[in-house]
Order: sequence, then C-alpha cells, then structure tokens
Amino acid sequence: MKKLTFRQILKGLSRYIIFFLMVAFLISCCMMLFVTTFAGNIELALTNENLEGAAKITFLNVLLLSLLFTISDEIRRKLTVARPVKRITQAAEKIMQGDLTVRIEPKHNDAEQFGEIIECINKMTKELSSLETLRTDFIANVSHELKTPLAVMQNYGTLLQQPELSEETRIEYAKAVSDSARRLASMMTNILKLNRLENQQIYPQTAEYDLSEQLCACLLQFENIWEASNIEIDTDIADGVTVKADAELLSLVWNNLFSNAFKFTGPGGTVSVSLSTTDHHAIIKVKDTGCGMTPEVGAHIFEKFYQGDTSHATQGNGLGLALVKRVIDIMQGQITVESAVGKGTTFTVRIGRV
Ligand code: ADP
Repeated sequence: MKKLTFRQILKGLSRYIIFFLMVAFLISCCMMLFVTTFAGNIELALTNENLEGAAKITFLNVLLLSLLFTISDEIRRKLTVARPVKRITQAAEKIMQGDLTVRIEPKHNDAEQFGEIIECINKMTKELSSLETLRTDFIANVSHELKTPLAVMQNYGTLLQQPELSEETRIEYAKAVSDSARRLASMMTNILKLNRLENQQIYPQTAEYDLSEQLCACLLQFENIWEASNIEIDTDIADGVTVKADAELLSLVWNNLFSNAFKFTGPGGTVSVSLSTTDHHAIIKVKDTGCGMTPEVGAHIFEKFYQGDTSHATQGNGLGLALVKRVIDIMQGQITVESAVGKGTTFTVRIGRV
C-alpha cells in the first residue's frame, strides 16, 4: 500500500479542520438562535456574557466530539478496512507474479464484505492452481505418451535400414512402425476431441434417433474381435427406443465402452449389452466378465491418461473414459461403474429420452 506523505497528511488535516470548524460554527449559531428564542419565550433575560460562554462551550464541544469520533472511526477503519485491504493487495501482487499457493487468512475483525472477497480470492487461487496442475500434468502426460510410439518408430525405422533383412523381418518391422503411427494418430485424435469438448467448441447436435439401432450397429463393428477372442455376446436391447441426443457424440461413448469390455475380457468370457427405459430415461448397461478393477483403480478411470491396467497400455492411451465422461456430462446424463477384480465390470449409462 502507498505511504502517505507529510504534505498529504497536512492537506487532509487542514481539510478536516476547515470542515469541522464550519460545522462547529453552524451548530453554535443554531444553538444560540435556539437559546435566545427559547429565553425570549419564557421571558428569561440572558446577558451577552451568558451567550458568549454558551457559544464557546458548544463550539469547543462540537470540535472535541468530532475529533474523538474521527479518531475512533480512523482506528476502526484501520482495523477493519485498511488491514484486510493490505492483505488482499499483497496476495493479489503475489498471484500476479504467478504464485498460486497464496491463501489469505480471514481475521475475525475484518469487515464482513472483506470476508466474502477473501473467500472468493482463496477459491479462485485454489481453482487456478488445480487448473495449472492439470495443465502441467497434461503436458507431461502428452509428452510421455508421444515419446513411446516415437521411440518405437525410430528404432524400427533404423532397423529397417539394414540391407540384409529377410522379407519376413522387414514386414514385421514395418508393421511395428505402422502400429505405432496408428497409436499416435489415435491419441492425437482423442486429445483433439477432448480438447474441443472441454473448450465447448462442440455443441451437441441433438436430434431424435433410434438408440436401439445405434447400439446394435456399434456392437457389430466389434464382431471380428469377439469372434477372434472367442467372447460370447449377450444382448437385451429393447426395440425402437428413441432418444433426443447427439448421435455422433453418443457413438463415441458406446465405442469406448465396448472396446474396453472386449479389451479387458479374456477368451471364453462374455460381454453383455442391455438397453431398458424408464419414463424419462434410457438405461444402457455394458457388462463384461473380464479382469475387473479394484476400487482404487475405479476411482480414477475417468481421469485423463489414467491407465489402471498397464498390461493393455499399448492398446489405449487412457483418454477413452475421460472422453466418455465428458460427453455424458454434456448430455447431462450419468455414468456409473461397478467392478470386482477377477469377476468383471459393469458400466451403466443413464440419459434423458426427450
Ligand atoms: P484406455 O484406452 O487406456 O483403456 P480408458 O480411459 O478407456 O483408457 O480406461 C482407463 C482405465 O480404466 C483402463 O486402463 C482400465 O484400467 C480401466 N478400465 C476401463 N474399462 C474397463 C473394463 N471394462 N474392465 C476393467 N478395467 C477397465
């Protein structure tokens, strides 16, 4: 806070003196008028000395009282206004310099409004610092995720340059390069989608459509996978269920849930998909008899880049469920997960029908 100069103090003081001298003078005049009128009414003879004495006492009284009030008000202002303002401005300066760990401690004698401001600033810095952590974590995660496929591509690219490679090995190396490139491309697509969803650059294009048909069509895309892995499919999809939603965004949800169910279910397992309705909602369940997950893993699965099961890490990038959650949030729906290690997992999605 700025320090007052001697000149400013003198200027303030002279303004104060002029103001209260005038007030004291006016009040004294009024008092004299009142006293002489009142004395006239009750036929009381007042001498000039009486009047002069009363005028002086009134004048001095007003000056003294105003001085006392001004001093006590100044002290009150210092405690309840100047101090919190100083703490707030000091904190704001630190925030401007990028220190988001700053928290202002509320004091019991701060004026009430400052308590609210302090609470808001503390909330704001907390939000900003968690955003900052998310941002730095995101950059660290992206860089890490980019490095692995790039390193694979670089290594196999170098190996491919050897002239004496057999045809079989060359095809194997080339496949490793293209697999990594595909992984990289899929990760970039997911990052872009997630980014656009989070920045609200995607506005849901809602239209009424047949959800039953969409679920069947999405599921059929995985036919090769369930046949190759010998996974049984069990469906209980109610016919003709329509919803008013963004079909493209919701297909992203089903594709991610189905691909996870197949990814985490071993040969001989079962993946079940059901669709039922209540008066206002469509309820979709994607159930598998796969590896399941612990409650600790379950608590993080909707976070970006989180992969609970690292044995399948190369088949994903930990962004699938983050995308699913974002889409469901945009649709104002709900997604829940129940899982038991070694027994399987059930994802339940509930979305409004109209
Ligand atoms: P990824 O594409 O890497 O699988 P996701 O965001 O789709 O990323 O999933 C995050 C994590 O959630 C997975 O690494 C896994 O641990 C867990 N998970 C998701 N679906 C299932 C499932 N059906 N069964 C068991 N674990 C699952």
